[in-house]
Amino acid sequence: MTAQPSVLMERYLDRLIQENEKTNVTRIIDKESAQVLHLEDSLVALPEMGDAPEGPYADLGSGGGFPGVPLAIATGRPTLLVDSVAKKMQLVHGIVQELGIGNVEVYAGRIEDLARQRPGEFSVVTARALAQLSVLMELSSPLLRLGGRLVCYKANPSEEELSHGLSLQDTLGFSLVSQREVDLHGNHRTILCFEKITQPSIKLPRKTGFAQKKPL
Ligand code: SAH
Repeated sequence: MTAQPSVLMERYLDRLIQENEKTNVTRIIDKESAQVLHLEDSLVALPEMGDAPEGPYADLGSGGGFPGVPLAIATGRPTLLVDSVAKKMQLVHGIVQELGIGNVEVYAGRIEDLARQRPGEFSVVTARALAQLSVLMELSSPLLRLGGRLVCYKANPSEEELSHGLSLQDTLGFSLVSQREVDLHGNHRTILCFEKITQPSIKLPRKTGFAQKKPL
């Protein structure tokens, strides 16, 4: 990588905003709100990423590459962005290649299929704006190695969502490591971090689509 990390992130955002005019992969269009809602927000979980064991990282439901691309640039981890919408992954991959961000690869497919192909391969997984907490735990567990971490970005999780997720820790093989409340220029964020401490007590992944359509 030739440019400073922050410069590279800005370039990524600029190119994404330009390309988005043609392809409409992400809702955020103006630079100022994108800097906060995409770049700064993505970097909020850097401490949790730093505490995770070394090794490969996957961003689930990455969309326009958030938080995966900024975290890949900031941490240098081998990174896989995962999204079932091929158009989004093609666009993101094109920009990443153009900017020479060498540690980022993309997987255009379902998280459940990746889990069948590469079980237990990842040291850390993130997810932002993908699904409720229990679903993130179910989708990520088969991808993580023992000791690996799941880092969840939540805007305003309800008590019910949190307690339901926590009640499934044993079933899904997780233990809560930390919960951190963050104020991002007036936007509330909860960052939850789980460690995979045992294998799940049920067979995962379930049939494709079940995690989201028939949540535990
Ligand atoms: N993380 C990004 C995008 C969130 S939108 C951000 O915060 O900006 C959620 C994304 O998850 C969508 O792009 C959708 O295509 C993808 N997605 C949802 N379920 C998925 C699944 N089971 N496998 C792969 N991608 C999925």
